[in-house]
Amino acid sequence: MQHINEIYPLLKEPRKVVITTHQKPDGDAMGSSLGLYHFLKQLGHQVTVVSPTNWADFFDWMPGTKEVLDYERQTAEGNAAIEAADWIFCLDFNTLSRTRRMEEKLGNATAQRILIDHHQEPQVDKFAYGISDTTKSSTSEMVYDFIEESGNDDKINETVAECLYAGVMTDTGSFRFPITTGAVHRMVANLKDKGLRHSRVHEELFDNYLENRFRFIGNVLQHRMQLFYEYNTALIAVPQQDLIKFNIITGDTEGLVNYPLSIKGIKLAAIIIDRGEERKCSFRSKGGFDVNTFARKYFNGGGHFNAAGGQSKESLDEVVAKFIQAMKENKDQLSNYQF
Ligand code: 5GP
Ligand code: MN
Repeated sequence: MQHINEIYPLLKEPRKVVITTHQKPDGDAMGSSLGLYHFLKQLGHQVTVVSPTNWADFFDWMPGTKEVLDYERQTAEGNAAIEAADWIFCLDFNTLSRTRRMEEKLGNATAQRILIDHHQEPQVDKFAYGISDTTKSSTSEMVYDFIEESGNDDKINETVAECLYAGVMTDTGSFRFPITTGAVHRMVANLKDKGLRHSRVHEELFDNYLENRFRFIGNVLQHRMQLFYEYNTALIAVPQQDLIKFNIITGDTEGLVNYPLSIKGIKLAAIIIDRGEERKCSFRSKGGFDVNTFARKYFNGGGHFNAAGGQSKESLDEVVAKFIQAMKENKDQLSNYQF
């Protein structure tokens, strides 16, 4: 993989470009993809964003979401875009398997793949160009650096700014995670100068709940959360019947894993959701407990030091039992908390 700065001189020639990201894109995945989309279009490239799956409704305010292809529903159009592409930007994931059903098509594409990502252990042999940096808060910050370092600060308009802000804000937990550097705040200052309406972004993302989602959260906190104070740990296990009862759709469970971290003493929060075809796990920690290693070791997953995920084909009860066992095995690390 050659360094991303090798393509800066090539940006001047118009190309056919596909931008893709991980399945069930989160705020950073959508924000970085659409921020890059609006930037590359200004340079005269022909750009298509292809998401491996659908995404949460609360991203639909982002300019350009109507043009994003959902590969599960628009497979033929997605394949045509991939076949025609000169470049495929792969944002916010480290292994092609994170694109689910797109993996094979992406792997066989004749286009050059370009990685921009902040996860550990990227598949570097799969990319012609790229940058992987786990010290970056978000892929949106890396797309911002890409625009700046290629000498295109003047292309950051209100649209690009609001997409990138959505990504960096959500991936830093509204600027509270330790990974939020001075550079992140300097980036936001520049985005403000370019017309960013940050209050609008917060409202669009966080003040758009429908009643069923709010009541679902109430039910989860009341009935589905267990606390293990001895281990500084909280676990939420959501059976599929809850998702059906409360009409839960993509995105409605986003952020739920963070709630128990507001309880005094809790340093590890886990959620296991029975999605029918699989049990999806999310892990969040504070301080020195490494959930990336934890997710890799026990739950076929990965992610970052303080935020990771995984999945399992075992039953909800089995995954819960496995989690409790894993928690017990990690008692020493869980009881030692440091800022
Ligand atoms: P979330 O819990 O929000 O789904 O994901 C948290 C972080 O862990 C994200 O950075 C995401 O990319 C990563 N992650 C989530 N699930 C998986 C997984 O199954 N495998 C890997 N390698 N990473 C995951
Ligand atoms: Mn990210």
